[in-house]
Amino acid sequence: MEIYDISMVIAPDMTVYKNKAEKRPLFRVNQEFSGGGKAYESSLCLDMHTGTHLDAPLHMIEGGGTIETVDLSRLWVNCRVLDMTGIKDKISREDCANQGIKAGDFLLLKTRNSAQDAFDPGFVYLDWRGAQYLKEKEVAGVGIDALGIERSQPGHETHKILLGAGIIILEGLRLKDVEAGEYVLCAFPLRIKGLEAAPVRAVLLRGLEKGP
Ligand SMILES: [Zn+2]
Repeated sequence: MEIYDISMVIAPDMTVYKNKAEKRPLFRVNQEFSGGGKAYESSLCLDMHTGTHLDAPLHMIEGGGTIETVDLSRLWVNCRVLDMTGIKDKISREDCANQGIKAGDFLLLKTRNSAQDAFDPGFVYLDWRGAQYLKEKEVAGVGIDALGIERSQPGHETHKILLGAGIIILEGLRLKDVEAGEYVLCAFPLRIKGLEAAPVRAVLLRGLEKGP
């Protein structure tokens, strides 16, 4: 079995959304050997939308579901990586309609974002009309290789359409080393009470049958 790690490395100098200071993770060492300690202990202060993460409905829907209530069986699934690396700006309804998408599919959108490590204000995103198409097709989940699944949509329509339909959203995937095709995805979020998102360790497995 092959394991492809499609998660971002969490580090002080990592790329964060719009390069905002408050999105940077804060590492603190509480005890270390060189300081006379008997152990190494640390803390991490992390924005829930920094790094590879899962958005729960509460992120964009008042009173929506929180991260610890997401059913884990929805995050160990057969999935398909779609090659959308030729798209420059946004993933349209037509781009989605060309992919033979079926009900229950879990799709990972591999775009030119994966080839770039620095934050790109013009990153490729899923246009709301594309999201509407995925909702109509009744997909199970969508992941993208950007820190946001949308930009330049003031009403956050893409998030609202997907989360409102109970579709899982994964953001911050790294898909550069993964070719388009079928895999098993495992992306369990941390079990944190009451929040709207949480970090995930997202991996793709090949050579392991998930079954139906
Ligand atoms: Zn998010």
